[in-house]
Amino acid sequence: MSVYLRPTKPRTAETSLGTNGENELVNNENVNISKVENKKYKTEICVNHKQEGSGICPYGDVCVFLHKGDEQFEKRLEFEVKRQSHVESIQKLHADLAKATEELAKATGKLAKQKQALRDKIYNEIGRKVREWNNPHPNGPYYYDVHGMTQPLLAEYIQEIIAKMEMSNVHQAKVETGKGNHSPYNFPALKTFLVTEYPRGMFVPDENNSGVLILTLEQSCSKIE
Ligand SMILES: [Zn+2]
Repeated sequence: MSVYLRPTKPRTAETSLGTNGENELVNNENVNISKVENKKYKTEICVNHKQEGSGICPYGDVCVFLHKGDEQFEKRLEFEVKRQSHVESIQKLHADLAKATEELAKATGKLAKQKQALRDKIYNEIGRKVREWNNPHPNGPYYYDVHGMTQPLLAEYIQEIIAKMEMSNVHQAKVETGKGNHSPYNFPALKTFLVTEYPRGMFVPDENNSGVLILTLEQSCSKIE
């Protein structure tokens, strides 16, 4: 409650702007902090403006999420539709994989060989689909959405990502494993795998999004400050 009774920061800064160098500095810092805090400002679609939403948002113009009519709305909507279709195709592959694995367990002889080949084909298709989704960088460069990967497929992919980063002298990337809520494929297992199986500090949860890990490569020894 008391927080609302305090003068707001912009107002404090406004009244002292240009009269006191120190306050100006404070003001600049505040601006930077709010920019960091609002990194996700108007990047995701408001639940009320999603297809299944009412179209009416109680926050109106002050809502931090995208509304119909906002500049980035259509672009983001297009991305979400594409992502949904990607997620569905991965889910279908997992269902096919489960079925093929079941059939393989029952098969013998020549049939077992056929079933094994089919299962391998579906398995590798999952890895291929995830790469295909990330290659055009729908979320920006060095952002990898690895939803639906199995642990061995992910390990292989991470190796490729690291090689690419090293080649381009890039030290940070983001890996989206998802939070695992309502997930039929145990996505948090991927997050745990990356955090625990790789060197300490290499994968750290993004404080802005617990479904994302920040991958940091150590800089070469010669660059130590
Ligand atoms: Zn809204």
